[in-house]
Amino acid sequence: MSKFQQDYNVAAATKYKLNGNGKHAGPMDIEKIFGENTFGLDEMKSRLPKAAFKSILATIEQGRSLDPGIADTVALAMKEWAVERGATHFTHWFQPLTGLTAEKHDSFITPNKGGGAIAQFSGKDLIQGEPDASSFPSGGIRATFEARGYTAWDPTSPAFIIENPNGSYLAIPTAFASWTGEALDHKTPLLRSMHALDEQARRVLALFGVKDVHKVYSTVGSEQEYFLIDEEFFFRRPDLISTGRTLFGARPPKGQELEDHYFGSIPDRVLSCMLETEKELYRLGVPVKTRHNEVAPSQYEIAPLFENANVAADHQQLIMLMLQRVARKYGMVCLLHEKPFAGVNGSGKHNNWSIATDTGMNLLEPGDNPHDNMQFLFFCTAVIRAVHRHQDLLRISVASAGNDHRLGANEAPPAIMSVFLGEQLEDVFEQLEKGPATQSKQGGLLGLGVPVLPHLPRHAGDRNRTSPFAFTGNKFEFRAVGSSQSISFPNVVLNTGVAESLDVMATMLEARLEKGTDLEKAVAEVISEALHEARPVIFGGDNYAEAWHAEAERRGLLNLPTTLDALDHLCDEKNVTLFSKYGVLNETELRSRYEIWVEQYFKKVNIEAETTEALARTMVMPAATAYLNNLAQALSAATDLGLPADGVRETAEELGKGIDALRAAIRELAAQNQDLGGEEVHDKAAHMRDHVIPAMNAVREAGDRLERLVAHDQWPMPTYREILFVK
Ligand code: ADP
Ligand code: MG
Repeated sequence: MSKFQQDYNVAAATKYKLNGNGKHAGPMDIEKIFGENTFGLDEMKSRLPKAAFKSILATIEQGRSLDPGIADTVALAMKEWAVERGATHFTHWFQPLTGLTAEKHDSFITPNKGGGAIAQFSGKDLIQGEPDASSFPSGGIRATFEARGYTAWDPTSPAFIIENPNGSYLAIPTAFASWTGEALDHKTPLLRSMHALDEQARRVLALFGVKDVHKVYSTVGSEQEYFLIDEEFFFRRPDLISTGRTLFGARPPKGQELEDHYFGSIPDRVLSCMLETEKELYRLGVPVKTRHNEVAPSQYEIAPLFENANVAADHQQLIMLMLQRVARKYGMVCLLHEKPFAGVNGSGKHNNWSIATDTGMNLLEPGDNPHDNMQFLFFCTAVIRAVHRHQDLLRISVASAGNDHRLGANEAPPAIMSVFLGEQLEDVFEQLEKGPATQSKQGGLLGLGVPVLPHLPRHAGDRNRTSPFAFTGNKFEFRAVGSSQSISFPNVVLNTGVAESLDVMATMLEARLEKGTDLEKAVAEVISEALHEARPVIFGGDNYAEAWHAEAERRGLLNLPTTLDALDHLCDEKNVTLFSKYGVLNETELRSRYEIWVEQYFKKVNIEAETTEALARTMVMPAATAYLNNLAQALSAATDLGLPADGVRETAEELGKGIDALRAAIRELAAQNQDLGGEEVHDKAAHMRDHVIPAMNAVREAGDRLERLVAHDQWPMPTYREILFVK
């Protein structure tokens, strides 16, 4: 073993001082730098003619359709701004169904007649692009002969500059569609779902007599968990490189049981990295707000202030991007996988969601007068009803091979969807369900017809960390989202599901009002009726408890433990109807997503299984046999010399058995890897779930047992103890 190899864990600990980027930028002036790399409203206002600015403001703030007449003007101003900031290229920045972001850069440069070149960027360049899209997943929407797709500018999310020491480029958030108009991305359905929510919510508000609201939109703030590890360790782990998670690794003697990491003080190198990440995000106008150590060693969290869901989804992608980019400057790698390390907590993303109006109301905030409370309870009921009705979709929206390791694994909410309301609110809803009949008896409590709701504390005492979907005072927190995924689809499901509930409940309300029922009584009746159906989804107990599984089954709630179980419901008639009725996804678009997500599941597990087999054969087995050879030589030498050798023999025997076990497990995994499970992608995915994953787990178990037996200096990969604790 080389000296370098021996020293790598020490190098990891000392490198920050030696090779850290050296330059410390010094304290930052947030007010000055915030948004300086975005072409936001302030910038537009100062650079655009008044009429053009007014027109684009109406598009951004009120959702008016974009006036194509101003495109050239905006493009010119945007280009001038970008060039001043050192940009040489621009890209339409979009979110294909891989869950990542995509970009193809074009230079501003256009040759002029004199043999030189000028920077040019037209309204057409701004509004529409035509990346060669043949390699993005389309789930059969696009035949390869019609490979082109087009990108379309989303003026409601500000364009921004991505910097590099050698040059910068302008990134323009866009939607991505096929030429036949089908959405091939995450942004398009998100925007459509926000539109559906806007329409239905305004309809409800009008019934409540609220007339001054021009736009309703969902707001989202998502808390991102991640790991930071030294890059030395990362690059010595082919499993981390290829799959984002460790496929081997015995549990270290010290894990997270001391709970000494959570909210602990942040190590210097990590803090420096966080500060620079935050600074870059501020410059991009991403309002990051909190940071702290998470439960697992080397795990952290970053959370922004909430924003309009569309902008929040774009910003979420930028957060993940910047976490990864900046980490490398500090000799670290940011792991966004849901479960990079077995036996310690994985990472999620808490999606905080609410509904806001352009007049500044939060529709999920309990009010302090009976009328506002009535409105709050109506919207809140609509959310509960949506979660109950679309448990399947919520589960699907967080389904991935990576997240399967978390959901239901006693560190994250289970695969069963339920709503936590807090004791007080749960009590209120219980009364409401019983309906107007009991109102006189319970009157004082309801605030429907009589006094006021009990004062609802913003942070209902018990936070219930085990609930997948918790009311936290003035928003709902969807906690099952995976750390590496785009937050778009979970929010598409929330927006669309709640739009549908509002639609149904508004229709019920209208019918009663038309018959002359007064508003309070009508609202109480509608809430009661809606709750009657949705009631089983309300659960305030421990979601991790075994008993809940049985209870949930009795209540008729869905339990879809794996990605494939969940995805199989995506195209159920209920869901086809929901998405097409509200113009969010037509049947073709929905089916294409099914195809893509099943295929992604299959591919991800397949890569993991192939990597497991390769590492078992080429790293674990050779290390174990080499050490066995050492022991065998020692045994024979000791015996020759007449030294006591029972201990050596016993160790060698144990190791030999471990090697046999590994060999048998490899044989089984190799056989399963050979077998594709069928021709159809669904059959392949099922083969992964039912046969490949168990075989992969068996190889890992045998490998991890060997890690505990083989001499540490002969083990070919950094161990958990090193990766998680040397920083
Ligand atoms: P906690 O989870 O401890 O309650 P916060 O209240 O700070 O923490 O909220 C966590 C996240 O929820 C933050 O990203 C915050 O911006 C977001 N959030 C707060 N209010 C809303 C809201 N009305 N809509 C959407 N997200 C919100
Ligand atoms: Mg939270």
